[in-house]
Amino acid sequence: MTDTIQITPAGAVITPDRPTIPCFPGDGTGPDIWKATAMVLDAAVAKAYQGKRAISWLELPAGETCYLETGESLPEKSLEAIRTYKVAIKGPLQTPVGKGIRSVNVALRLLLDLYACVRPVRYIPGVPSPMKKPEDVDMVIFRENTEDVYVGLEWESDTPEARQIMDLVKKISGRDIREGSGIGIKPISKFGTQRLVRKAIQHALQTGRDSVTLVHKGNIMKFTEGAFCRWGYELAAEEFADRTVTEAEVFEKHGGVTPAGKIMIKDRIADAMFQQILLRPAEYGVLAMPNLNGDYMSDSLAAMVGGLGMAPGANIGDNYAVFEATHGTAPKYAGLDKVNPGSLILSGAMMLEFMEWREAAELVRTGLAKAVAAKDVTYDLARQMEGAREVACSRFAERICALM
Ligand code: NAP
Repeated sequence: MTDTIQITPAGAVITPDRPTIPCFPGDGTGPDIWKATAMVLDAAVAKAYQGKRAISWLELPAGETCYLETGESLPEKSLEAIRTYKVAIKGPLQTPVGKGIRSVNVALRLLLDLYACVRPVRYIPGVPSPMKKPEDVDMVIFRENTEDVYVGLEWESDTPEARQIMDLVKKISGRDIREGSGIGIKPISKFGTQRLVRKAIQHALQTGRDSVTLVHKGNIMKFTEGAFCRWGYELAAEEFADRTVTEAEVFEKHGGVTPAGKIMIKDRIADAMFQQILLRPAEYGVLAMPNLNGDYMSDSLAAMVGGLGMAPGANIGDNYAVFEATHGTAPKYAGLDKVNPGSLILSGAMMLEFMEWREAAELVRTGLAKAVAAKDVTYDLARQMEGAREVACSRFAERICALM
C-alpha cells in the first residue's frame, strides 16, 4: 500500500487511506500552533472515518531555527519530501535577515512552482469584525505567485547596473528615468496569467460560484496588468466558452441576468475593487489577480472577517500543494501557548478538502465555529469579544475537538 498522495495531470487528487504528509512546525509561535493544529486534524479524521483513515505526519525542518542548527534555512531533504509526498503543511517561517535566500516562503513557491496562492475569506459568526454585515463576505482569492515585482529583479540606485538599464530605456524608448532612481522589473506573462485564471475558473465551477473577477491595474500598466485582464478573458473564451459569459454579454444579451449553469467573468480596476469589497462584498465570489494586488487584497479581506489569526491559505501548483498559516511568526509570543491557531487549523481543513476528505474538513470547521460561538477563544479574539473567556492556544484546540 502506498502512503503517497497522487495528483494526476488532469488535477485529480488520489489520497490513500494512510498518507504521509510532511509538516513544518516553523519558527516563533509556529510549534505552538502546529501542535494545536495536528491535534484538531487528527481528531477530525479519527471521528470522520473511525480509524479507517489516518495521517502519518513527517516533521521536517525549515526556517530560522533550522538555519541556526544546520546553516541552511531550506534543506534539500525538506524540499525532496514535498516532491515525494506532494502535499505539505507549514507554520510561519522566519527568514534569517541578510543571509542566504531572500525568503523561505518565496523560495518554496518558486522552487516547487506553486503558482496559485489561494486564500478563502469567509466570516465565522461571532468573530469580531469591523464590517456592518461581515456575513456578506465570502470570497476566494487566487493570487499569482511566481511573477510580477516579486521575481526580485531590482537594482539599487546609483549602481552601474541601474545606469545600464537607464541607458537601455533611453535607447529603446527615448525616455529618461530620473537620476538616482532604484529600478525594479515587473514581468507578467500570458502563460503565468492563464494557468492562474484557469485554476480560478475551475474552482468556481467545482464549488458552484457565480463569478470570477479579474482584478488589475490595467488602466496604468497596460502591458502587464492590462494584459493580465485581456489574457484572462481570452482563456475563459477559449477553454470555458460553454460555461462562462462576460459581464458585458450578460448586460447586452441576457437582460442583466447570468444564464443558468454559467459563471460571469468580470474585471475591476484594483483601486475600485478595494471599495467594492467593503461596500458590495456580496457581489463577488472568486477573485483572480497578479501577485502584488493579491498580497494587499488578501490581508485587507482577512481584516474584514477578523484578521490574519483566522485566515487560511495554500500555495498550489500542478504537482504540489503547500498549506500554510497566513500570518508571521509573532516571535514575542513564542513558546507561550498563547496565539490563535485558527489560521493553520483552517488551512488544515483546506488541505483535507484538497485530499477529498470532505467529512473531516467539515468537522474541523464546525468545531472551530462552535468554539468561537461558545466564546472560548484565544487572547486576540477575547480582547475584542464581550463576555469571552480567554483560553490558551492548546485549550482552544481541545475545545474545537470536543465540539466538532
Ligand atoms: P506577525 O508575525 O504576523 O505578527 C504581527 C502581529 O500579528 C502579532 O504581534 C500579533 O498581534 C498578530 N498575530 C500574528 N499571528 C497571530 C496569531 N496566530 N494569533 C494572534 N495574533 C497574531 O508579523 P511580523 O511580526 O511582522 O513578522 C514576524 C516574522 O514573521 C517576520 O520576520 C517574517 O519573516 C515572518 N513572516 C512569515 C510569514 C510566513 O511564514 N508565511 C508571513 C509573514 C511574516 P498583537 O501583538 O497585536 O496581538
